[in-house]
Amino acid sequence: MSSRASDAAPRCRICGSAGDLRLTTTDRNRSIGAERFDYRSCRACGTLYLAEVPADLARYYPPDYYPIGAEHETNESERAKVALLQRFVSGGALLEIGPGAGGFAAEALRSGFGVRAIEMDERACDHLRAIGAQAVHSAEPHRALAEMAPARAIVLWHVFEHLAEPLALLRAAAATLEPGGVLLIAVPNPAAFALRVLGARWPHVDAPRHLQLVPAATLVRLAGEVGLAPVALTGSDRAGRDWNVFGWQHFLAPPTSGAVRRRAAFYAAALVSLLLAPVERGGLRGSTYTAVFRNDGGI
Ligand SMILES: [Zn+2]
Repeated sequence: MSSRASDAAPRCRICGSAGDLRLTTTDRNRSIGAERFDYRSCRACGTLYLAEVPADLARYYPPDYYPIGAEHETNESERAKVALLQRFVSGGALLEIGPGAGGFAAEALRSGFGVRAIEMDERACDHLRAIGAQAVHSAEPHRALAEMAPARAIVLWHVFEHLAEPLALLRAAAATLEPGGVLLIAVPNPAAFALRVLGARWPHVDAPRHLQLVPAATLVRLAGEVGLAPVALTGSDRAGRDWNVFGWQHFLAPPTSGAVRRRAAFYAAALVSLLLAPVERGGLRGSTYTAVFRNDGGI
C-alpha cells in the first residue's frame, strides 16, 4: 500500500490521527459471512481500530449472542467481579452498560447493589427486569445516560470496545457519577502478548464487533480529560485470567466448532495459560485489562 493511500485511510476513532494497517481478518469467532475487515494501529494513541464499520453491523450480533439464563449458574467469576468493585464502593446505585445476559447484574443484586442497566437487546432487557434490575432499552448508551439519575458505580464489562461513540460514553459516564463514585471499564488489551503471537487469529479481535481496542495508557488519559482519576489498573484479576484462557481456547476451537473439540480446547487452553502465566499476568500483557476510575470532583 502506498503512503498516499495510507494517508487517505480511515483515521483513529479515538484521537483522529492516522493509523497503519496492522491486520486483516474475517468474522473468525461467529463465521457470519466471509467479508474481510482491516484493523489499523493509531500512530498517536496506539488504539487498534476497525477501519470501516460495516453498515449492517447488527447482523453480526446473532440471537444466541446473549446466552440468557446462564446467570443461574452464578459462578466464581461473577462473584470475583463484584468483589473487585466492592474494593472501591460498598454499595449504592450501580449502573451497568451492556449487561447482556445479566450474570454480573444478578450477582450485584445479590450483593445488595441497586442495579440499573442500559442494554441494546430487548430480550436481555426483559430478562434483567425479571431478575429485579431496572433496564433501559437503548443502543446509544451515552444518550440514555444523560437521562438517568446519578450512580455510585458505572460498569462496562467488555462493552467499551463495541461502542460507536466511546468518547461520548466517557463524558456521559463522568457526568452521571456521584462525587466519589467509580467507573469500571474492562476491555481487550491491544498490548496483549497473545495478539503479538496470533495476530489476525487472536479471538479478542472479534471482527467486526470490536470497533476499537484502546491501550491502557490512552484510556487513563481520556478518563483524566473528563475528570476521572485511575485507582486500579490490572490485567491479572480473576476476569482477566479467565479471558486469557478464553483467548487460547477460542483460537484452538472457535465457538462454531463441535462440543468435543471445544471441550478439548478448554483444557489445552488452561494448560497454555498456566505455562504463559509469567508473561500474561504481568506488566499488562494479558488478553484484557480492567481499569477503575474515581470521580474526585466535588469531594
Ligand atoms: Zn488514536
